[in-house]
Amino acid sequence: MSDNNQKHPLIAVVGSLNMDLVVKTDTIPEEGETVSGEELHYLAGGKGANQAVASARLGGQTTMIGAVGADVFGERLLRSLNESGVDASQVRVMDDSATGTASIWLSNGDNRIIVIPGANGKVLPEMLEEADTVKSLTAAAAVLLQLEIPLPAVTRAATLAAEGSALVVLNPAPAMPGLPQELLRCVDVVTPNRSELAVLTGRDQLRPEDLDAAVAELAASLGVAVVTTLGPEGAVYAAAPGSRVQAGRAGAYRAPGYAVSAVDTTGAGDCFNGALAVALARGETLDAAVSFAMGAAALSVTKLGAQSGMPSADEVEAFLA
Ligand code: ADP
Repeated sequence: MSDNNQKHPLIAVVGSLNMDLVVKTDTIPEEGETVSGEELHYLAGGKGANQAVASARLGGQTTMIGAVGADVFGERLLRSLNESGVDASQVRVMDDSATGTASIWLSNGDNRIIVIPGANGKVLPEMLEEADTVKSLTAAAAVLLQLEIPLPAVTRAATLAAEGSALVVLNPAPAMPGLPQELLRCVDVVTPNRSELAVLTGRDQLRPEDLDAAVAELAASLGVAVVTTLGPEGAVYAAAPGSRVQAGRAGAYRAPGYAVSAVDTTGAGDCFNGALAVALARGETLDAAVSFAMGAAALSVTKLGAQSGMPSADEVEAFLA
């Protein structure tokens, strides 16, 4: 690998792109009622696109693979990827679907969200068989996956990635029980948040004192590294003996979060995942990669917006220095 490839590793992200329609209102309407709200914002989102933007800002040569509709939201999402330096040439524009949307009502700290997958729901395994996409997946140093597109496509992306030498990072969000073995067999790192960890370990609820054991148990049962993010409290992680990604110590380890003044935590987990993939793809240890990802995610919550709040590699290095 050349020095430049190590500094700017190839990252492929396969996942969702959404237009977030954020409505701010003091009053949530009752059935049959009309109310006046305060503000409407159109924000580029979707876990896949957010993670791709984070990866590109942090130095990864990043390709996004997914789908949007042939509409103005789709155009805007592609522009947003391009502006962040993400290669969006493998995002398919579908004539027969609308771009995915998340309608988000924010009211006095409460939020209600309706997601309409649109084109994201039409990403099929066959789409990944195109020559360019196979090349992106097999040549990547890391492939980053989430669960906002159909599971067969996620699984095919993982199996193609495993045919090359990419590290496969799975952010299992939204939570989904019973992930197929065919997918799990190809994964090197799994990054559930607390509630996703509960689902993956078959628990209704996860008590704080059981977190470390659950992370170590999941890592051992899958033979992978597991990193669970804990919001402002940081992260807990463990790597199974023999997994491709190794930590400097055995068992679960807690990395405390960085204290920052949070403005908007939307996309913190996505920033964490993008940063983790870039650092691991550069060949860093799990300990160093988690520390870099926590620095990046902490910086991201100090700014408004998911994609607009993603920091650059220089900003993270200055923050951690
Ligand atoms: P998700 O949104 O996926 O549930 P988390 O809320 O666990 O993700 O946040 C992911 C990471 O972002 C955390 O591990 C932490 O590093 C960082 N983070 C999130 N919220 C804060 C905060 N208020 N202060 C500092 N860091 C934060």
